[in-house]
Amino acid sequence: MYFRSGLVYLLGALTLAGGYTAGAAVPAPATTTAAAQDEIVINGLPIRLRLVEDNQYNRRYKLPGPMTEVKSVTIHNTAEPFSAKQERERVNNRRDNASVSFHFAVDEAEAVQILPLGQHGWHAGDGNGNGNMHSIGIEICRSQCYGRDEHLYRSAEANAAVLAAWLLKEHRLGIDALKKHQDWNGKYCPHRILEEKRWQEFKARVAAQMKNPQMASLEPAAPLREAVCIGTRKHADGKTGPYFQSFSGKSFDMQRDYIADLKRHGIKEIDVSDWVKDLDCRPILKDFRDAGINVRFLYVWKSSAPDWDREDIVRTTNGSNEFRDYMAGKKK
Ligand SMILES: [Zn+2]
Repeated sequence: MYFRSGLVYLLGALTLAGGYTAGAAVPAPATTTAAAQDEIVINGLPIRLRLVEDNQYNRRYKLPGPMTEVKSVTIHNTAEPFSAKQERERVNNRRDNASVSFHFAVDEAEAVQILPLGQHGWHAGDGNGNGNMHSIGIEICRSQCYGRDEHLYRSAEANAAVLAAWLLKEHRLGIDALKKHQDWNGKYCPHRILEEKRWQEFKARVAAQMKNPQMASLEPAAPLREAVCIGTRKHADGKTGPYFQSFSGKSFDMQRDYIADLKRHGIKEIDVSDWVKDLDCRPILKDFRDAGINVRFLYVWKSSAPDWDREDIVRTTNGSNEFRDYMAGKKK
């Protein structure tokens, strides 16, 4: 049953932080869990997933909404002496009604991801411009470490070059998509790199990292999306209604629970891989779209493509390889 091969294959592409798919061309085992994937190591740099807590305050001030497309990676200096974990705590715990968030903090030892890549942050100071809406924010920590502690900053910056190179590769972006905060709103940030007049040097280091063999061999991540089968099932109340079988192996009886789960994981696009003929899916599509999730009708047997929603069909196929390649991001 080739749906099943698609199911297993997708696990690697569905890592919940959004695109932790280094080497994702290899099908992930079905038992892979998010917990086991919350750390990856790129060129010796551990990248750890420590998302800000999902609570009402954080949703309002730190997780403002979906990032529909990643167009660039933006470099900041924290202008603090703190570590990456400490910076994560500071964002997570602040309650001063300031809209401040970024995707990664990086120090001498690790990079910490605090926002899903499917969410934009408030880091660029350009309102609803391309900086906030379409750029991944990297805070280089320890930028107030001088003298005896200067090595902490130097190491943090070296690690940031690895992280930035990886993110550019993952999103199929070139070195010119590397931005500084200053490019968005004129703020003197990253202050340490600017005061030392080393932006071009830093950019060259990122470009060199992109060319190193381990980085060059990485498979770009699939876009952040999920595939789902919609079926019918007899629910607890005895009525027959839709249920949602996601490619991460979870199933949901209630549509609102599934939408909540997608949002929690920053997934902003789902491909509907199968339909049940006796179920009218139009109201379901509308609810997903109202929740800000783009529904695409990716995959269907040619003979069963419904006529009523042709505009949603992005690919009609009866071959499983084509489907897997599409989901792996190899075909547009
Ligand atoms: Zn900044």
